[in-house]
Amino acid sequence: MNKLKVAIVGGDLRFVRLAQILSSKNFDVAVYGLCHPDIPDEVTICSSISELKHYPFIIGPIPFSKDGKCIFTPMCNSYVSVEQFFLAATHSYVLGSVLSSQMCKLFEQHHIAYCDIMKMDEIAILNAIPTAEGAIQYAMQNSEITLHNSKCLVLGFGRCGKILAQKLLALGADVSVEARSTKDLAFISTYGYKPIPLYELKSYLNEFDFIFNTIPIKLLDNTYIDLFNPEVVYIELASAPGGIDIDYCQEKGISYIPAPSLPGIVAPKTAADILYQCLLLTLRNQGAIL
Ligand code: NAP
Repeated sequence: MNKLKVAIVGGDLRFVRLAQILSSKNFDVAVYGLCHPDIPDEVTICSSISELKHYPFIIGPIPFSKDGKCIFTPMCNSYVSVEQFFLAATHSYVLGSVLSSQMCKLFEQHHIAYCDIMKMDEIAILNAIPTAEGAIQYAMQNSEITLHNSKCLVLGFGRCGKILAQKLLALGADVSVEARSTKDLAFISTYGYKPIPLYELKSYLNEFDFIFNTIPIKLLDNTYIDLFNPEVVYIELASAPGGIDIDYCQEKGISYIPAPSLPGIVAPKTAADILYQCLLLTLRNQGAIL
């Protein structure tokens, strides 16, 4: 039986681990823009991006691109332009991540079939577990107090916010969660966290030792930052551009901790397993496997 052909383009250590998993599961795997000594010998290292055209499924990095122009290749020195990628991937199905509306338009203009795996709840919920553990790790590394008995605020009660709040509570933190929907606020209080409606956020901001942001828009301008406890540790989980005015934080001496791509940093093997499950689901949905 012919092996299923899958290419991996760019990405962090979790994509190296994914190459190892796929190779061990007998896939025909190629990588481009991903360099690491752990990549198995059986994996084809593409020397030119045009070789991707032989692969009907391509999985791209998380995030797919940071600037909209080049693909995110943190483990390789090569610059892979999005335009070059589109030319090579014309006949492939692309699994992308954290795709901006502009990037989605480009996929459509090039008539390339694609999905955003971070929009798949099955994947994003599982991914929220290493994200929450990583956020807690960063909080511990960047403070002189325990999370136990500390006052923590989680901004947003989506996939990451829900799982992070649960883990903080289990560590003995005093957990408040902000949300804008009354349904979320009701769940927040039933789970034992203090609910904070978005419109009342400013009245509470000075209370916290830690603020974890999962809201993917720049909400926190100077009028919010001026109300922070000066000792607060702010951990940014939301993807770029994040939720806060970083320059103003620096001006005020607020401890701002960027925490992008946590699953790939703190738990690349677990994160690769999640990607593998995601790939299987996509292959099944596309009729490539039963
Ligand atoms: P999600 O499930 O969509 O949750 C987003 C939360 O933000 C929801 O509570 C949502 O409220 C709230 N929100 C969205 N727009 C808002 C607005 N205009 N005003 C107020 N609240 C708003 O997303 P997620 O999966 O938790 O991911 C959250 C962010 O973390 C994303 O940027 C994602 O890319 C990033 N992320 C980062 C890592 C990492 O390693 N750092 C890992 C995974 C994800 P509603 O439900 O009311 O819309």
